[in-house]
Amino acid sequence: MERLIYLDNAATTKTAPEVVEAMLPYFTEKFGNPSSVYSFASGNKDVIGRQRDAIAEVLGAKGNEIYFTAGGSESDNWALKAAAEAYGDKGNHIITTKIEHHAILHTAEYLEKRGFEVTYLDVDEDGRVSLDELKSAIRPSTILISVMYANNEIGTIQPIREIGRIARENGILFHTDAVQAFGQIPIDVDECGIDMLSASGHKLNGPKGIGFLYIRKGVKIRSFVHGGAQERKRRAGTENVPGIVGLGTAVKRAAASMKERMEQESGLRDYLIDRVIAEIPHCRLNGHRTERLPNNANFSFRFVEGESLLIMLDGKGICGSSGSACTSGSLDPSHVLLAIGLPHEIAHGSLRLTLGEETTKEEIDYVVESLKEIVGTLRNMSPLYEDFLKKAE
Ligand SMILES: *Cc1c(COP(=O)(O)O)cnc(C)c1O
Repeated sequence: MERLIYLDNAATTKTAPEVVEAMLPYFTEKFGNPSSVYSFASGNKDVIGRQRDAIAEVLGAKGNEIYFTAGGSESDNWALKAAAEAYGDKGNHIITTKIEHHAILHTAEYLEKRGFEVTYLDVDEDGRVSLDELKSAIRPSTILISVMYANNEIGTIQPIREIGRIARENGILFHTDAVQAFGQIPIDVDECGIDMLSASGHKLNGPKGIGFLYIRKGVKIRSFVHGGAQERKRRAGTENVPGIVGLGTAVKRAAASMKERMEQESGLRDYLIDRVIAEIPHCRLNGHRTERLPNNANFSFRFVEGESLLIMLDGKGICGSSGSACTSGSLDPSHVLLAIGLPHEIAHGSLRLTLGEETTKEEIDYVVESLKEIVGTLRNMSPLYEDFLKKAE
């Protein structure tokens, strides 16, 4: 089977051809170091500045509030560790959620070992945090709230504006991991009271290994990498010029096509969800029905093992995921699915399909037909399903 149906855009996206094209000259004739004095190279400094401004504009921010990093994980690490260090004299308490990406969760655990106290907020069955629980978790010693904009597994979008307001009313710094949301849905840092925001190029048809951290002017934050004066001395190292140009190009492109893409992808997503729920028995949708990313569908199939499902889908040229790429290979069910209250055996039978700008209705039809067949085959092999049928008789 020759065809490839890529429905794992939450893991990574295809780098857009015009992004690659924009990057190429910075590997070849425009290879100069932006810090050099001669004009051949120093032009690259202006090129970087223009990318910064373009990215800032999309967020309603200013160019000098954008700091380039090596991707989402680095941005998340930086935001938490540097805020903890810079505001550690004010307090030692951080609030986050149980469904964050591991780049946040493992950084929070690291900080706990260094004397910080972390509250991990629960989420409801749709994956949303409760504003009342957030309010009651706040202490005089709370220095940071970090809540992801949208979840990478179940696609649920958080009430970010309200969280930002609560943070601001209490004089607490607010960080959001927007790696999944940025480029997919409109984000305005002022409207949402966001002080820091993480994003990554490869989740929006840009290159891998490049991202940024937005840091609002006035936020005290320590340098993450010491060395040269790059990134306003906060993150030293010769700039990844091709990566930055690729990221800037991808962001401009995503912003220009966002409205149209949201409509197209959410239409196909709903078509996929409606068909799967209607045509495959003992199946549920995970995540919020409407407050969810336009490209995300996440299902649990009872009496089915997620890994077997993925392997059989692969046999039909379909790429999906059973959790996040970072956790596959481990036998633990996803922390996100457990946090929304799924029992282990149901969390194990889960499938995430994330659409992209090139996904077609014809592909979705093929996926639904394949899923019906595969789920049927796997259930016929399942002793649990056999027991279930016997009991039902
Ligand atoms: C992918 C992802 C990250 C990590 O980004 P990288 O650029 O791969 O390091 C962090 N948070 C979320 C929500 C993600 O989806």
